[in-house]
Amino acid sequence: MQPYLDAVRDKVCTVCLDAVMHGDQFVRCGLPKGRTCPVEVFLPQVIGVVEAVDSWLLDDYVKVLREKVCAICKHSEGDVCVLRLQADCPLDRYFMLVAEAIQEVNTRLNAEAATVGIP
Ligand code: SF4
Ligand code: SF4
Repeated sequence: MQPYLDAVRDKVCTVCLDAVMHGDQFVRCGLPKGRTCPVEVFLPQVIGVVEAVDSWLLDDYVKVLREKVCAICKHSEGDVCVLRLQADCPLDRYFMLVAEAIQEVNTRLNAEAATVGIP
């Protein structure tokens, strides 16, 4: 999971409204005490969503995201999520960047696997 966490840190946290930055340097997540980031909490499920969908349409990904992640998130009440309505869910806000980060890691890991043994 670490390569994905690192990629999210580089690609998402550095532009996240909830990040504590020093210049262009990410320092730490600034979510209030007691709040966890759904990007990190649900990262395995989000990877599953990205790998399960093959589409140019964001809506196709979001539909599966709602089914696989939001459905098990404590912030959802049926189809409603107050954080999402307030644009206060980092996973929802940056889903495309999260998906890109995951796809980049997968591309790199696949390339490494395909070239194992080549000097
Ligand atoms: S809320 Fe999530 S995406 Fe934003 S800085 Fe914290 S860990 Fe990163
Ligand atoms: S949109 Fe709401 S229900 Fe879905 S992951 Fe974010 S906080 Fe959880």
